[in-house]
Amino acid sequence: MYYNDNTVIFFNGQWLKAQDLKVSPYVQTLHYGSGVFEGIRSYETPDGTRIFKSEEHYKRLLYSAEKMHLKVDYTADEFTKLTYELLKQNNLGNAYIRPLIFAGANMSLTPTDEVHVMLCAWEWGKYLGSKLLDLTISSYQRPNPKSCHVDAKVTGHYVNSILATTEAKKNGFDEALLLDAQGHVAEGPGANFFYEKNKVLYTPPLGNILPGITRATIIELCKELDIKLEETYFTPEDVKGADSAFFVGTAAEVVGISSIDRVPFKLKWEDSLGSILQAKYIRRVAFNE
Ligand code: PMP
Repeated sequence: MYYNDNTVIFFNGQWLKAQDLKVSPYVQTLHYGSGVFEGIRSYETPDGTRIFKSEEHYKRLLYSAEKMHLKVDYTADEFTKLTYELLKQNNLGNAYIRPLIFAGANMSLTPTDEVHVMLCAWEWGKYLGSKLLDLTISSYQRPNPKSCHVDAKVTGHYVNSILATTEAKKNGFDEALLLDAQGHVAEGPGANFFYEKNKVLYTPPLGNILPGITRATIIELCKELDIKLEETYFTPEDVKGADSAFFVGTAAEVVGISSIDRVPFKLKWEDSLGSILQAKYIRRVAFNE
């Protein structure tokens, strides 16, 4: 699904076939989750293939690496150039790009001098699909910001996401919505959250969430479209039965939510602010409008 016999990846300064990658069974990241990664999309635009907000993604990657004591020799700009080359070598236009930085062999809980850099890409549809989602409030909280760097995209943090998504699906929902340690709504397992009430949008402030690049784009679009937006804490009770809600993320793009714990939102998706932003987001990424 992610690669075939011809797929080329970038690994530690070299281009090689994905199927030829050899990794030590003793890499620290495999055992303890100490790697960092990104999820980036490229779009075929009228001006050719364009990686959306490449610099922002690679700056976040370098920030995540620093927080995890992983030494990286590439700049954001060098990563961007390598990624365009990666797309070219794999003949990809609309693609999902996955950079991963992981620690080398080390079975101790100490920083590792050996650091590996991998870039790969594949074609990937909308992560959560296009249909409206039925969510459930997760029994799992988002990681406490005092226990790890929640603003870094660290592989190990996704144990929490996998548990939450699996629980939600097992209980017959499409996806989970997670609270922070104070009981406020935080985010989805792989996307940031917005809801609408009386023509105003609300989203949690930074602090307990991943600072999403799509979230930042949606905030920009709200300013451009004169949509009122408040970054504030709120509870599941504030959200349930409100006017509308949606998730945003690079992989998911903008996806509407129809209910939380079977309590439906009042507006039809087509009549919501999220629907306007969804259309505008696609024009921004694919046409630079
Ligand atoms: N929150 C979490 C936990 C995520 O994994 C993601 C996906 N990276 C997001 C939010 C959205 O971030 P972005 O818009 O930068 O993809």
